Amino acid sequence: MVIRVVAPNPSPMTLDGTNSYLVFGEGDRAIAIDPGPPSDAHCDALIARAATRGATIAAIAVTHGHPDHAPGAAILHAKTGAPVYAHANATFPHDRTVGEGERVTAGDAELTALDAQGHARDHLVFLLPDRAGMFTGDVVIGRGTVVIAPPNGDMRAYQATLRRLRDDFGDAAVIFGGHGDPIADVRGKLDEYIAHRERREREIVQLLGDAERTIPDLVTEIYRDVAEMLWPAAARQVYAYLIALEREGRVRARTLPRAPTDAESSILNPDLSRIVDAESAAVAAAELGFDRRVDALDAYALA
Ligand SMILES: [Zn+2]
Repeated sequence: MVIRVVAPNPSPMTLDGTNSYLVFGEGDRAIAIDPGPPSDAHCDALIARAATRGATIAAIAVTHGHPDHAPGAAILHAKTGAPVYAHANATFPHDRTVGEGERVTAGDAELTALDAQGHARDHLVFLLPDRAGMFTGDVVIGRGTVVIAPPNGDMRAYQATLRRLRDDFGDAAVIFGGHGDPIADVRGKLDEYIAHRERREREIVQLLGDAERTIPDLVTEIYRDVAEMLWPAAARQVYAYLIALEREGRVRARTLPRAPTDAESSILNPDLSRIVDAESAAVAAAELGFDRRVDALDAYALA
C-alpha cells in the first residue's frame, strides 16, 4: 500500500511539488520516502497521513540529496525518531547508508535499494516487493524529462541507470516518480527516456560536425522552440553531453579569446530569481550547478 503526499513546493523545477510517499505493510509501521523540502507542516502532514492508517513512520528513505527531496528528512527524523537511510555518497544528515540490493524495513513494510547514480551522485531507486512499484526520485518523473547538470549530474551514468532499470525492472507494475503522477507504462517510459537522450546527443554531434560551436550556440539552435527562461537549464544539460563526448575523445574544446556577450552570459550565468521565487531559485541553482560563475567561453568541435 502506497500513499502519495505532495509537498507544498510547486515550481518550474519541481512540477506540482515534490512527491513524498508512505509505504505500508500489514502492520502499524510505515516507511516515508523523500520527506521533501524543509517544511515542518509537510512533515506533520506525513505523520498525520500515516496515523489515518493506524501507523507510525519508522524508517525514512531518501532518493537523493537535492534540496527539494532531502532536507525534510532531518525534520521528520526529529519528530519521529525514525532512522534516515541514504546512499553512501550522501552529504546530508543520515543514520544509515544503504547500497545496491540492501533493504529498508519498518515492521513488515519493505523496500530494496538500487544504486541509481547519474542525476546525482547519491541517487537511489527503491523497489517494492514483487516489483509492485519503483520509486525513481528524479531518475524518471511523471511528465517531461529531468535535468542532468554537471558536476553532480553525469550523463553516461544516468543513461546506464535508465538502461539498467529498463533491462532489469521494466516489468515493474508502476513508477512512482519524485514529481508528477505515477506512470503505468514502465518499460515504455524508460524506452522513451533512453531514446530522448540518444536523439539529443545526435543533434549535438550533427551540429558540431558542421562547425565549431559554443554552448549558447547549441542551446539557441537545439532549444529554439523552448521558452528562453529554460535555456540556462538546457545549457547545463548540453554541457553534460559535451563532457561525456569530450571524455570519450569524440569532441574537443578550446577557450575563445573573448568574454561571453551579455546574451551568452545570460544563458551561462542566469539570474534565477527573475524566473522563480527566492526559495525555488536556491533549489534550481543547486540542481543545475549555477553556484559557479562561467566567465570563459569554450567552443566545441568534433575531434
Ligand atoms: Zn534532483
